[in-house]
Amino acid sequence: MEMSEIEKYVAPLAVQEAVRILAAGAVTIVAGGTDLTPQINEGRRVYAPTLMNIRRIDQLSRISVDGDNIRIGSLATVAEIRDNELIKDHAAILCQTASHFASEQIRNAATVGGNICNASPAGDMIIPLLVLRAEVELARWQDGAMTVRRVALDQFFTGPGKTVRRDDELLTAVVFKRPSADFIGQFRKSGPRPALEISTVSVGIGGDIKAGRFSNVRVAFGAVGPTPLCGKQTEAALEAKILDHDVIQAAVHAAQQDASPIDDIRATEWYRNHLIGVFTEELLNNVCQN
Ligand SMILES: Cc1cc2nc3c(=O)[nH]c(=O)nc-3n(C[C@H](O)[C@H](O)[C@H](O)COP(=O)(O)OP(=O)(O)OC[C@H]3O[C@@H](n4cnc5c(N)ncnc54)[C@H](O)[C@@H]3O)c2cc1C
Repeated sequence: MEMSEIEKYVAPLAVQEAVRILAAGAVTIVAGGTDLTPQINEGRRVYAPTLMNIRRIDQLSRISVDGDNIRIGSLATVAEIRDNELIKDHAAILCQTASHFASEQIRNAATVGGNICNASPAGDMIIPLLVLRAEVELARWQDGAMTVRRVALDQFFTGPGKTVRRDDELLTAVVFKRPSADFIGQFRKSGPRPALEISTVSVGIGGDIKAGRFSNVRVAFGAVGPTPLCGKQTEAALEAKILDHDVIQAAVHAAQQDASPIDDIRATEWYRNHLIGVFTEELLNNVCQN
């Protein structure tokens, strides 16, 4: 195991201070620590010389309306998202996902920014955020000033644990357009021990239901490939359709085509594919009933 020693511990109070620290290089960011700590303990990762705890940056915890958008600060915890009235009213799929996340102890520490930056193909909060067509905000210090760029979440992940985030960028928020009043979103996941294990597979489906027709459909899958992914064929099978038996069966078939499951110690390819079909059908039936 590679040895590492923390030479400096910093806990900035402002985003600007944090990005200046990042610009100096060789920094490990810690938010809730629920991914980082086990990775360090198991020797899968080493600390950089500077450890930067971002939990004291109050500004990053806010959940707010920003024009037509809803903005969730990267430090919002899974428990805070679950209990937030704004999120309940406009993006209940996030509350639904948050309720099925780990244990209360973990939900109180785990942040949405950490879930996204850890970039696990099974990261739960990523799935409803893909359904909501979210973007992430990345801030960095450049030429004496702070600059911010936005990246669509479906362009953010490049592989397991890998993203387009530069080492000197801080994920400050996740932003999505406030869904229409017709929007309905549903999430379902499985795990060998419900809520205390990383999901075997997860499915998120959302769109607008108007006069029985499902439109602006977005489908996302977790833990079926190297990154969380959007189900383009499933979306096409559902777009502008009335959700009758035949349409739902076509969507189930498309979902199994979209998902390219991998065999691992948690589940076989056959089982994942089976679950993708079962969950897709179940979620579409829920959409019909709402
Ligand atoms: C017992 C247990 C159960 C779990 N169950 C689930 C589950 O059901 N579903 C699930 O999805 N996950 C689960 N997890 C994983 C973990 O809790 C989540 O991924 C959590 O959201 C990570 O957030 P954090 O704030 O703790 O991240 P941290 O561990 O602090 O950070 C994770 C990574 O992101 C980086 N990072 C954090 N914040 C930022 C930022 N703002 N900008 C840039 N980089 C950043 C860190 O450097 C690190 O690489 C579980 C973990 C444990 C220990």
